[in-house]
Amino acid sequence: MSDATAKKEERRKFQAIRGTRDLLPPETALWNRVEQTAHEVFTTFGYGEIRLPVLENIELFARSIGGETDIVGKEMFSFEEFGWTAIDTFRREIITTNPIELRKIQTLASDSVKVKTERFLTALNEAVDRGEIKRTPETVQALAIVPQKRDELLAALATGDIKWSDKELTILWGVIQQAVKNVRLGDQVALRPEATASVCRAYIEHNMQQLPQPVKLYYTGPMFRRERPQKGRYRQFYQIGAEILGGTDAPAIDAEVIEMLMTYFDRVGLQGATLYINSIGHNADNCRRGYVANLKSALEKVKDKLGPDSQRRIDTNPLRVLDSKLESEQAIIATLPHIADHLCDECKTHYAEVKRQLEVRGVLYQENWRLVRGLDYYMRTTFEITAPGLGSQNAVCGGGRYDGLVELLGGPPTKGIGFAIGEDRLILSLQESGKGQVQQGRDVYIAWMGERAYAAAIRAAKDLRSAGFSAELPPLEQKFGKALGQADKLGAKYALILGDNEVSEGLWTIKTLSTGEQQKLPEPDLIEFLRTQKNVSS
Ligand code: AMP
Repeated sequence: MSDATAKKEERRKFQAIRGTRDLLPPETALWNRVEQTAHEVFTTFGYGEIRLPVLENIELFARSIGGETDIVGKEMFSFEEFGWTAIDTFRREIITTNPIELRKIQTLASDSVKVKTERFLTALNEAVDRGEIKRTPETVQALAIVPQKRDELLAALATGDIKWSDKELTILWGVIQQAVKNVRLGDQVALRPEATASVCRAYIEHNMQQLPQPVKLYYTGPMFRRERPQKGRYRQFYQIGAEILGGTDAPAIDAEVIEMLMTYFDRVGLQGATLYINSIGHNADNCRRGYVANLKSALEKVKDKLGPDSQRRIDTNPLRVLDSKLESEQAIIATLPHIADHLCDECKTHYAEVKRQLEVRGVLYQENWRLVRGLDYYMRTTFEITAPGLGSQNAVCGGGRYDGLVELLGGPPTKGIGFAIGEDRLILSLQESGKGQVQQGRDVYIAWMGERAYAAAIRAAKDLRSAGFSAELPPLEQKFGKALGQADKLGAKYALILGDNEVSEGLWTIKTLSTGEQQKLPEPDLIEFLRTQKNVSS
């Protein structure tokens, strides 16, 4: 391969990371419309926008979503966050030094081992003394193990003991490397996999319980989960969500959140959306806990007929068996007990009232007893909305009540309910149903020739743009034929033709590209002409 080809290959390597993608025009205009509609609709329901950081302490998610969930267990993008420190450089030196190399150049290596470990230990000791780094068990261990193993290593290298094989050297150096790696220089942070936990964190952090309750907030933005990418499932995806925190848990709140959601979907043009609702009661023996025990014993009886995932969940989280999409399990799941038969009186009444209130608001729903959220703090109302055109990933929105979450995160007891819309899927569904069209192209392409015409063209572009029309002003002079071809390619509706004649006559030529009709107009009439045309066509 020649140098030039190699370089080209090298350059070609840059592609969006697996599961992430670029959103490009004209599609981004649809994204904007979908987000703009959310701003408009949610504002009419009294919600204010919250903008949250993309990075949060990993503990926030571990605590709120749960350590055993896939999201926290294996899907988070996380890293250690700390300001620049020399310890990191020294740590990296140790981690990246290959032990085989150490052995080959023993004398040098012993210097190097000594220097590298000493530098690291001195810097770490000082930072711990100054309180810049926490004295965690891992740090204490590194401070003890690194000098001890280093001395063993140096002694062995000094005697040149031939029994020292590469393998033993590797093991000893590996112990030092691991101890060094374990030292925490800062907090573990994660790219947020969802935003409910962040909203609750912000509610507590900013003492929002002192504001008039409930506090109604909405957000839009990217979320990150290391899932297996497929249609409608990405590693960076976007959500539009809302949360109501504080105040009462009256069923009207649940019904209104859902009403807002359906109003939004309607406004944005989503067709064939189906709303499913359920109540999962609350975490008490006479309610959900009783049901879960019942479910578990029913599952034990049919265990042999279930797949390995469901079998495991019987012990870890039996409710999640109900989420199973496995064809072979469907008939068995259909025979399992329903939560509705196990709700306590208050939860039953709450659910009945949510349904009644949805009916009063004219919101159509279907009940789905299998709609559960396998986390303790979720309670009572859960809902999901599916849309056509999405294949197996057909949920465009999930939501529910989570009265215990704020308290779990260290805040006061606080009622809460919210939802998250998958924006990527909403867009896909709109596109599939033909509702994803957005206006493309320019209103006016300005074809100009000659110095004097160029000055008039600049003026025209300025006037058109400030009147709200999109205008394309080519930077270089081109023959009118070429300019009109360009106007067509860009999908312009009109071409404004400005040559010497037009300028000296003070009459500009405007051509309607779809019909080929053209007419002459005095400069001041241009905007008015376009406005009238727009009104006629709309
Ligand atoms: P969740 O936060 O898991 O309740 O998800 C809420 C909504 O976000 C889902 O109904 C999906 O529409 C969307 N969603 C979740 N995960 C992904 C993903 N990996 N890619 C695209 N959309 C997703």
